[in-house]
Amino acid sequence: GLADRLQSTMQKIRGKGKVNEADVKEMMREVRLALLEADVNFKVVKDFIKRVSERAVGQEVLKSLTPGQQVIKVVKEELTELMGGEQSKIAVATKPPTVIMMVGLQGAGKTTTTGKLANLLRKKYNRQPLLVAADIYRPAAIKQLQTLGKQLDMPVFSLGDQVSPVEIAKQAIAKAKEEHHDYVLLDTAGRLHVDEKLMDELKDIKELTKPDEIFLVVDAMTGQDAVNVAQSFNEQLGLTGVVLTKLDGDTRGGAALSIRSVTNTPIKFVGMGEKMDALETFHPERMASRILGMGDVLTLIEKAQANVDEEKAKELEKKMRTATFTFDDFLDQLGQVRNMGPLDDLLKMIPGANKIKGLDNVQVDDKQIGHVEAIIRSMTKQEKEQPEIINASRRKRIAKGSGRSIQEVNRLLKQFEDMKKMMKQMTNMQKGKKKGFKFP
Ligand code: GDP
Ligand code: MG
Repeated sequence: GLADRLQSTMQKIRGKGKVNEADVKEMMREVRLALLEADVNFKVVKDFIKRVSERAVGQEVLKSLTPGQQVIKVVKEELTELMGGEQSKIAVATKPPTVIMMVGLQGAGKTTTTGKLANLLRKKYNRQPLLVAADIYRPAAIKQLQTLGKQLDMPVFSLGDQVSPVEIAKQAIAKAKEEHHDYVLLDTAGRLHVDEKLMDELKDIKELTKPDEIFLVVDAMTGQDAVNVAQSFNEQLGLTGVVLTKLDGDTRGGAALSIRSVTNTPIKFVGMGEKMDALETFHPERMASRILGMGDVLTLIEKAQANVDEEKAKELEKKMRTATFTFDDFLDQLGQVRNMGPLDDLLKMIPGANKIKGLDNVQVDDKQIGHVEAIIRSMTKQEKEQPEIINASRRKRIAKGSGRSIQEVNRLLKQFEDMKKMMKQMTNMQKGKKKGFKFP
């Protein structure tokens, strides 16, 4: 893949003290091949290589103390540039509702993304979207959106599959006004290929609803095809943004790199899974880092921040300071770790983790957390607050109640005790520091 390819090339330069023009040429040849192999549009590659080469053989790199790193920096900056600036803002109509039209080929992820976007609008912007089932062709498409609506506890507007999509859109907007929904998300139909009938229908919907956003949903797995699809939708409809889905899969990076420069339409979001919270803002710089194998620390931090309630974090910190941390607090913390998503995914975002052989096969055990939670839930209120009272018979009861072994219960109690001790030590150390004591 692109990442591996670029990485091994970068690895070669990294060690170099000095880089000459011939080195740069060789590196650029590698980068070029890597990009082409990753299905990046050839014209895009040509321009890219030209820009990077100019900068790389220029003063900027040759005169620097660490030319290898400097080249990586240039490649990263140019990759970032290629993917455009950060543009995750969603339009807000001056007169609500704001209408967002989701378009794309069948199976690209329109319906799923409609649900995810509604979820994001509510969670991040406190909006009340109305989801609209305007795909009357794909069997069970309406049902699919209704299921997502139920899951999200959000209303879905549908008139069945005997009414035209244009009429559905029209009535949906009227209903949204009536019921004070501030966003209307139109889940439209797709075809297996771009065709005239599809485009005509979408144009009709656009004509009537005057959408504030037209988001093209494309499957990142389809590589160069995604770029062609983006181009024709853009020509016919005028897109305001692209959502690149299935980036969690084993995709080549080509689509992300080409779409922006070929269609001049920003990628706004990326789909990172099938679940309703798996929609992320597209950050070109982070994407470039990820491609270059530097890990995605920022995404990781953002994920953690979104899920750890700030108030709670402060409260927790205080409890740690005063060593009044209980099993209830512990349970809370576990819940927050869980909210961050599968541990395997988080692990992969750690810089350098992708270089560790066999990490792909490592299964971080989410189940383990579940076991710990079960044990804590089987404790009484008093036991959670004063674990020191948990004697042998209580241990036996807790093990039985949680369906875990006594050994596991013992281990958890021991770990919890150790953790509290450590907190106490840390607190004492900090107190000492404040008083001016020195520690070795
Ligand atoms: P539509 O025909 O464009 O409406 O596509 P759907 O929303 O029905 O999605 C097609 C399939 O792709 C479904 O199985 C989705 O669960 C899956 N899918 C959508 N987005 C993503 C994503 O970001 N990651 C993964 N892994 N699967 C996705
Ligand atoms: Mg659909």
